[in-house]
Amino acid sequence: VKITVLGSGSGRGDAMRNASAYWLESREATWLIDAGDGVLKQVLSLKLDLHRLDGVLITHTHPDHVSGLFFLLQAIKLAGRSRPLEIHMPAPALAVWPEMLRWFQLNPASWPFTIKTEALYSGIVVKRSDLQFTALANTHLPKDGSSPQSFSLRMDENSGGRLLYSSDVADLGHLHGAANGVTLFLSEAAHVAPETALSFARQHNIKQLVYTHISTSFPLLPAHDAAVEIITAHDGVCLSC
Ligand SMILES: [Zn+2]
Repeated sequence: VKITVLGSGSGRGDAMRNASAYWLESREATWLIDAGDGVLKQVLSLKLDLHRLDGVLITHTHPDHVSGLFFLLQAIKLAGRSRPLEIHMPAPALAVWPEMLRWFQLNPASWPFTIKTEALYSGIVVKRSDLQFTALANTHLPKDGSSPQSFSLRMDENSGGRLLYSSDVADLGHLHGAANGVTLFLSEAAHVAPETALSFARQHNIKQLVYTHISTSFPLLPAHDAAVEIITAHDGVCLSC
């Protein structure tokens, strides 16, 4: 699968980075993971084909992961889409989805394509001919009682690519059960110490570790390791696994 990092920034905002968004293309499917600020501009400037997009997976609804979604939907509608679009999101977000659309004065009932919404849960959430996504509920900010749940995602491609995306997570311990056979670990670097992500990758024999969701919380990221190839993501970088 080819992964284009559209936004490698974190919740603090960054003059040089858009917020979280990742464009995944397999031979037969195209999915967007998260839709933070700047996602539409990135899709247009990188000349990605919005008509190819099958669906969107929203890991949680903090603004740095979702604030670009509604502008993206408006652009998809104006581009003349006719086939359905899937959007998967945590259940508490799905409960207020109609109100969010109204807040943005978007009325998909009048659009020429349907939006099929689904609640995320821990398990296989998307299964297509050549890939599947598995979601894993995690605790993102355990000290914040009002914090929404977030999900990490694993993608398995039939041709062998195995991606693990932490999204925002307080404790990588949640992901041990999902790391088997993973070839690329896309790890956030704002709530988890980069060294912890590196030892996680070593422990699970993951060949590539990509730091993303870059924050000033951890200004110095490990750059070299004998066993793991380390990449620090920047906006527009293409990865494959
Ligand atoms: Zn975030």
